Amino acid sequence: MSEHQPDIYDLRQGLDEVDSGIVRLIARRRDLITAIAKVKEQGTSAIQDADRERGVLDGVMAVASDLGVSASLVRTIFRELISDSVAQQARRLGGDSGGRARVAFQGAEHAYSHAAAQKYLAGRELDGDLTGHRTFRDAADAVLAGDADLAVLPIENTTAGSINEVYALLRERQLFIVGEETWKVDHCLAAAQDVPLSSLSRILSHPQGLEQCAQFLQSLPNAVPTTYFDTAGAMQAVAAAGDPTVAAIASPEAAAGYGLVVLRHGIADTEDNYTRFVVLSASPAAVDRRIPCKTSLILATGHEEGDLLRCLEVLSGSGHSMTKLESRPRPGRPWEYMFFVDFEGNTADPRTAAALDELRAAALFVKILGSYPAKALRAPVRHGGLPGQPPAGQAVPPAGSPAQDPADMLEAVAAAPRPAAARSRQYRLVDRAARQADTVIRVGDVLVGGGGFVVMAGPCSVESADQITSCARFVREHGAHVLRGGVFKPRTSPYAFQGLGWQGLDLLVAAGREAGLPVITEVMAVDQVLRIAKAADILQVGTRNMQNFDLLRELGKVDRPVLLKRGLSSTIEEWLAAAEYVVAQGNQQVILCERGIRTFESATRNTLDLSAVAVVRERSHLPVIVDPSHGTGQRRYVAPMAWAARAAGAHGLLIEVHPDPDQALSDADQSLSFDQFAALMARLAAVPGSVPASGPG
Ligand code: PEP
Ligand code: MN
Repeated sequence: MSEHQPDIYDLRQGLDEVDSGIVRLIARRRDLITAIAKVKEQGTSAIQDADRERGVLDGVMAVASDLGVSASLVRTIFRELISDSVAQQARRLGGDSGGRARVAFQGAEHAYSHAAAQKYLAGRELDGDLTGHRTFRDAADAVLAGDADLAVLPIENTTAGSINEVYALLRERQLFIVGEETWKVDHCLAAAQDVPLSSLSRILSHPQGLEQCAQFLQSLPNAVPTTYFDTAGAMQAVAAAGDPTVAAIASPEAAAGYGLVVLRHGIADTEDNYTRFVVLSASPAAVDRRIPCKTSLILATGHEEGDLLRCLEVLSGSGHSMTKLESRPRPGRPWEYMFFVDFEGNTADPRTAAALDELRAAALFVKILGSYPAKALRAPVRHGGLPGQPPAGQAVPPAGSPAQDPADMLEAVAAAPRPAAARSRQYRLVDRAARQADTVIRVGDVLVGGGGFVVMAGPCSVESADQITSCARFVREHGAHVLRGGVFKPRTSPYAFQGLGWQGLDLLVAAGREAGLPVITEVMAVDQVLRIAKAADILQVGTRNMQNFDLLRELGKVDRPVLLKRGLSSTIEEWLAAAEYVVAQGNQQVILCERGIRTFESATRNTLDLSAVAVVRERSHLPVIVDPSHGTGQRRYVAPMAWAARAAGAHGLLIEVHPDPDQALSDADQSLSFDQFAALMARLAAVPGSVPASGPG
């Protein structure tokens, strides 16, 4: 070894120091949380503050991007830290002071339930004696028999859905929900030896494990999926049998715990695969009202039409937001149902107690399962905005203030009565008449449409991992909300670069994930729809496919936002009728995109029809964004047209950016360099807000 090269021992020692430094910083963070909790103890305000949490996340993500650290890594770590600090404050308010609990779970050691139970106990600073049981029923009965204080049972999985047996237990047994916990499921395939996948004859796992990896299992030619009572138990059995042709699906921790070799990591059908667990006790919990809380109940409604609706209206009318509604058969009563309802609320709150009284009067049967600190809540969403600008809604000056900018003038025009036009017969559902309020579409944690302004940016084509990763980082750092990248390219010449196809899609998704951005990509054919819909957050229909009616119909059948570009020689009416094809099939999540049309003008690649934005916003409730890159075809015109699009009332932009635009494999002339994109975003933020959230009328 050369003298100048540090040896691995020194490097590891350096790493150990960094790691213990991280833990010391976490301890310091917790001391500060304790001080904050003391201050909050005096007040009556809730301990969870969504705006403050978002501020914390935005702050650390900005530092991460300065330092070139993966945004998704930092987000994952800080979500855990924030959830720990909420739990820490909740513990103080709840007067928890440690102790021991006997906890029953289903399965063997290292089962997901085992891990979730440990996480729950750690969050409450409790020591635990954990006992695995063969079935959910056995674990629940251990609590009723007094052999355990708590049972931690899985109730739903984000991929496979509800666990019916546990719902049945909640209905039958006198048990109360006193807590919930979530666990990110990370399935792997493991065997006694490192063998090729083709040599496997059987794969053991809990039915849920098999179901969550159904696609992967289909790809194994010779292996028969075999149900086992538990994921970790399946690993244990594989280890005991030592047969190299048998493998099991469970967590990597279970594989390590039973000394197996992991053959393949991350085999679940969806990467974001979570299981929610309920914590059951023989008596209900009382939860401090400042702790974010959920209440669960079972409901059976009367036999009149609209009975269920009336019950749910009691909750919504009293300001309780429902987080889950599950219907299960009513035993012994064919075609009748019971409903399991979770909502945000606490029986200790008089408002909630009153709503429950009203609910009892409206329903045939109500069983309150308990109020408990909430862990599983949907990620908060926000309207898109530009760096340094006030959040959506506040950018619009109050009515009556002097008109100072083009947007104000547009408002004045929009406020003028619209001439009574003959109603078009080509579309109905996308017509503004069908829905007065703007349609708002969720993409990742950002809302498109209504207020706010969303920027989708990235290269015309995904060309390499480096190219798309650097684009993703850069555009995110400068305020973009969505990463674009074509992988199936509609090129005029068959000899031009056609895109990287499926491999490009993987690169795009990985880059988006790393930067913490949702992704948009073009879908060209009917048989690509399902597979792209699984991976991408928005499916783009290119200008050349605007009237590919089979493709539009197919897109209407998936639950994914669709960005529909205007056909290069289509009228606005034809464009809206094309959107109707998608919406008529059931998918209402259509974003329109003006990208320029063919005219006699040849100075620009296309003629960007910005008046289409004003017309579309009047005729339809769908969001409309503008693509000034294809609209002009030349990079020097992109920024001014982006500026104009915002002033005209567009809900956002689609912009092509490339690390080395002149070398781009497609649309080089119109792609912005990083510097140009940064300048554009800075200037855009200076354009005053555009038209208000709702349409005319
Ligand atoms: C694109 O966005 O790269 C694209 C091909 O756009 P259009 O369909 O508008 O030409
Ligand atoms: Mn392009």
